[in-house]
Amino acid sequence: MRIVLLGAPGAGKGTVAKMLTDYDGSVQISTGDILRNAVKAGSELGKKAQGFMERGELVPDDLIMDIMEARLQEPDCAKGFLLDGFPRTIPQAEALKKLLVKINLKLDRVINLDVPKDVILDRLTTRRTCSNPDCQEIYNIKSKPPKPDGTCVKCGAPAVQRADETVEAITKRLETYNEKTAPLIDFYKKEGLTTTISSLSSEEIVDQIKKAVK
Ligand code: AMP
Repeated sequence: MRIVLLGAPGAGKGTVAKMLTDYDGSVQISTGDILRNAVKAGSELGKKAQGFMERGELVPDDLIMDIMEARLQEPDCAKGFLLDGFPRTIPQAEALKKLLVKINLKLDRVINLDVPKDVILDRLTTRRTCSNPDCQEIYNIKSKPPKPDGTCVKCGAPAVQRADETVEAITKRLETYNEKTAPLIDFYKKEGLTTTISSLSSEEIVDQIKKAVK
C-alpha cells in the first residue's frame, strides 16, 4: 500500500507504520528517523538539520525534498510505502504530488490519526526510543516499558528520551504541527484521499487502515 500518515507528534504514526510493514512488506519511511540518523552520523545533512530539530521547528522543505526524491525511487519502495512524518507542509505536499506524477505512482490513502491533546502530551513525555539506528523500537514507560535496566527488549541498546522531547520542544512541535501540518488534512480531503481515524488502539487503527485501502 502507498499511504501518508498524518497526525500530531505522538499520535502513533511510527508505531502503526511499523505494524503495517509486517502486513504487506510496504516500507516505513520516517523523515524524522532519517534526520536523526544523519545527526548521529554527523553528516552534512545532519549538521544542517540538528538546530531546527532540537528547537522543535521544521527542517527546510528543500532539504526534505532532496531526501524524499531519492528515497522514493529506491527499489524497496516497489512493494509500497508508508510515509511517516512526510509531507509536513503544503509545499512538501505539492512537491510530493509532482514527484509521484513523475515516477508514475499514486497514493492509496492519507490517514489522519486524530488523538486528543492531553493524550499526546502524556505519550510524548513518557516515550522512550531505542538508540540503535537500525532498530528505533518505540517504548512507553507506562504501557510498554523497555527492560528494567532501560535497554531495548529487541536489540539491547539503551532506550532513551529524544532530544526534542523536552516540554519546551514538545510544545513548539505541537504548535508547528497545528500551523504547518494540520492544513494538509483539508489539502488531501479536496483530493478525496483523507480518512480520519480517532481510535487510540494501534491494533484497531491498523485494522481500519487495512479496510480503508482495500
Ligand atoms: P518526527 O520524528 O517525525 O517527529 O520528526 C522529528 C523532527 O524532524 C521534527 O520535529 C522536524 O524538526 C524534523 N522533521 C521530520 N520530518 C520532517 C519533514 N517532513 N519536514 C520538516 N521537518 C521534518
